[in-house]
Amino acid sequence: MRCPIPVRNERRVLCIFPAYAHSFGTFSHAYPLMWRVRAFMPPQGLLVIAAYLPERWSIRFVDENLRPTTEADFAWGDVVLVSGMHVQAPQIRDITRRARAAGKTTVLGGPSVSAAPEMYPDVDYLHMGEIGDATDELIACLDRSIARPDAQMRFATKERLPLYDFPIPAYDLLPLGRYLLGSLQFSSGCPYRCEFCDIPALYGRQPRLKSPPQLIAELESIVAQRAHPGLVYFVDDNFIGNRKAAREILPHLVAWQKKNDYPLRFACEATLNLAKQTEILALMREAQFQTVFVGIETPEADALKAMRKEQNATLPMMEAIATLNSYGLEVTSGIILGLDTDTADTEARLKQFIDRSNIPVLTINLLQALPKTPLWERLARDGRIVEDASLESNVRFLRPYDEVVEMWRRCIAYAYDPERLFARLAYQVDATYANRIEAPVRGRLKAANLRQGATLAVNLLLRVGWWSDYRRAFWSAARRALQRGQIDAALSMGFVAHHLIQFAREAIRGEQNASFYSMRTRDEAVLQPTHMRRRMEPATLVDARDQTR
Ligand code: SF4
Repeated sequence: MRCPIPVRNERRVLCIFPAYAHSFGTFSHAYPLMWRVRAFMPPQGLLVIAAYLPERWSIRFVDENLRPTTEADFAWGDVVLVSGMHVQAPQIRDITRRARAAGKTTVLGGPSVSAAPEMYPDVDYLHMGEIGDATDELIACLDRSIARPDAQMRFATKERLPLYDFPIPAYDLLPLGRYLLGSLQFSSGCPYRCEFCDIPALYGRQPRLKSPPQLIAELESIVAQRAHPGLVYFVDDNFIGNRKAAREILPHLVAWQKKNDYPLRFACEATLNLAKQTEILALMREAQFQTVFVGIETPEADALKAMRKEQNATLPMMEAIATLNSYGLEVTSGIILGLDTDTADTEARLKQFIDRSNIPVLTINLLQALPKTPLWERLARDGRIVEDASLESNVRFLRPYDEVVEMWRRCIAYAYDPERLFARLAYQVDATYANRIEAPVRGRLKAANLRQGATLAVNLLLRVGWWSDYRRAFWSAARRALQRGQIDAALSMGFVAHHLIQFAREAIRGEQNASFYSMRTRDEAVLQPTHMRRRMEPATLVDARDQTR
């Protein structure tokens, strides 16, 4: 639904989504291999807000991961509306500074300001929390006047808009074909209480849900664009946060896929205990879920207990990963280093886990304390929060800082050594990809998809299969996939590995941050809102983020 507040005045709202810094999860090194892809995923939260604004108001949408906001954009808008996560804080400040310089009123919403409004003293209006009564108050206020207020005004949501009343995100304001993945949200909130995570505090422990028709309408809206990503990512904090709801929505997705000849494939995030839900897994397989991000965080049982993530230890980890693989789900994993429980053996255990699990993509980050988390409170009590922008983390580790960062570098080097990485990808050919259903290709036979496939194939052949120093490892894995007729898998393992190897080499040279959440800034990341940076999408005012994503 749109905002129910009647408005009297025309307004021009310029919505700007800040660029992301490079990370393992953005696959930015893969974009040059693809046809027109320039960013990772559409900004779900800001698109929902754009769709909620009064019909009478004009909206212009700029995702700075696709292009910078121009002077003409700023000149057009009456109000500049920005949303973002902590990791985008430097870019958020840069956008609001440019907007003020253009004489515009600034509004900031999203997860970062919701958790830490004090970080943004120069913004005119702060919107804290999810879309709800505060959004309506803000709209009424902007309808009355677009002049900059004398002092900052804050609006905090007390009553959230039910998810089943959310409008379809304004996908039509963006060229979806320029994104690597599509984004979709089914639920918000998570019932668990992992120590480092701010989801329960921000979005509640009782997952709230959209209705099946709503979700199908959003899918229709995505595929309505001539060019759109073939893989759509459920940005829910935990897809099985409400298991009953997941079981109930999946048959609708299966039916929609069948009716439309399987135009899309899906990915999501879930806790590892998904492996116990065989009925859900069977439906996910039928709906064409192909990847699941699991915040594994650590293979060490004591560490899981200390961070209150025991749900990952309800069954043996390797067994759980093998079960997910057996339903055609490739597991992507988040890992945290710098935990209080880390010992001299942590590095060896992690390397052993990488080898034994055969998980190809692991985002390995240093622990970061986010505001509004139990971790933050504990560390603040103990005087272990460090505000030093030159460091990779705001946590004073129990082990020496340099040792932890060096361990991170060695683990990255180990995980993304080309031979090892392609060996893990080759493992997936039989262990995972062979277990996927064979869906008809008719639904994907679009001119844009064919052009994308042809462009990727040619670029991979040249840049990875011919010019790269890891071509031998690539061909060994790709041959295995091709021998089993898995052409899509051969292509995707090429571009995934190309990004990971390039990014890891930059990280080892010290050109990338050791934590996705690190506030450590690099000049180019702050000052140049270029196309090729970001990682995972904030789905919010409905953001999704494990520490490790
Ligand atoms: S880390 Fe994942 S499982 Fe834990 S509370 Fe956050 S969203 Fe839930």
